[in-house]
Amino acid sequence: MENEGALKKLAGWIDDGGMVVFTGAGISTESGLSDFRSPGGIWDRFNPAEFTLQKFTASAETRRNFWRFYHENWKVSRAAKPNRAHLAIAEMEKKGKVNAVVTQNIDELHQAAGSSPEKVLEIHGTMWKVGCLSCGDISPWEDFFQLLEEEKEIENCRLCGGLLKPATVSFGQSLPADVLNEAQHQCTQCKLLLCIGSSLAVYPAARLPEVAKNAGAKLAIVNREPTPLDRIADVAIKGEAGEIMNKVLSLLA
Ligand code: NAD
Repeated sequence: MENEGALKKLAGWIDDGGMVVFTGAGISTESGLSDFRSPGGIWDRFNPAEFTLQKFTASAETRRNFWRFYHENWKVSRAAKPNRAHLAIAEMEKKGKVNAVVTQNIDELHQAAGSSPEKVLEIHGTMWKVGCLSCGDISPWEDFFQLLEEEKEIENCRLCGGLLKPATVSFGQSLPADVLNEAQHQCTQCKLLLCIGSSLAVYPAARLPEVAKNAGAKLAIVNREPTPLDRIADVAIKGEAGEIMNKVLSLLA
């Protein structure tokens, strides 16, 4: 395989322990979930400008479109299974190599693969819960899926009358401060930050590799295409996340 030297180098750093993994939508494409920015990705089919928090709160029509978007998303995503890359990370945790998994993904495939839920920091939330924007009450997604299947309207919060929304971070919405702080803390403490399947283009999340690097960690990037942070990476490996992570796992001591 091309990249053999880089893979060995990465395996050696992972063996040293103290790794934080940082993942984006590209780690889940092998599980059948579209990323946002690749051709045929989610933003080829839906317009991101329509899905800001401000439009969501201001317009009943935007809310109906948003729920339609999640209805489609839930239908596709509930059948998705973790792939070789998610499984390799869970396996590395069992070997004691993983301090935390910081993910931009909302699909919970890391937990499904066996990563400990307390080690998975979901900086963009999860699609598998629905939250009230006013009182923070959390409900299971299935109740809302059923209503959408029956083409019923989504009502407001039963506790406070606030607007309900899938518990993901939309454009214009702040990242959960406690989760982001913990992710930043983990990045300042780690020996290696391994980024997998992220365009590293969405801020503030994409600042985390810089935080880790500035704190003295090694930075490794695994992605299908170049990223803007390849220039500061200690190793940048091009290719498919599943294949590469499987290979790296096999190279561990
Ligand atoms: P992105 O779409 O900007 O970038 C994904 C990157 O992964 C691209 O550079 C692409 O070349 C690469 N890639 C795609 N398939 C790959 C594969 N098999 N192996 C290696 N690389 C691959 O995604 P991002 O950086 O995560 O952008 C952030 C946003 O995407 C977040 O807001 C996140 O919430 C959201 N998102 C999440 C999901 C999910 O939960 N599965 C799906 C779509 C989008």
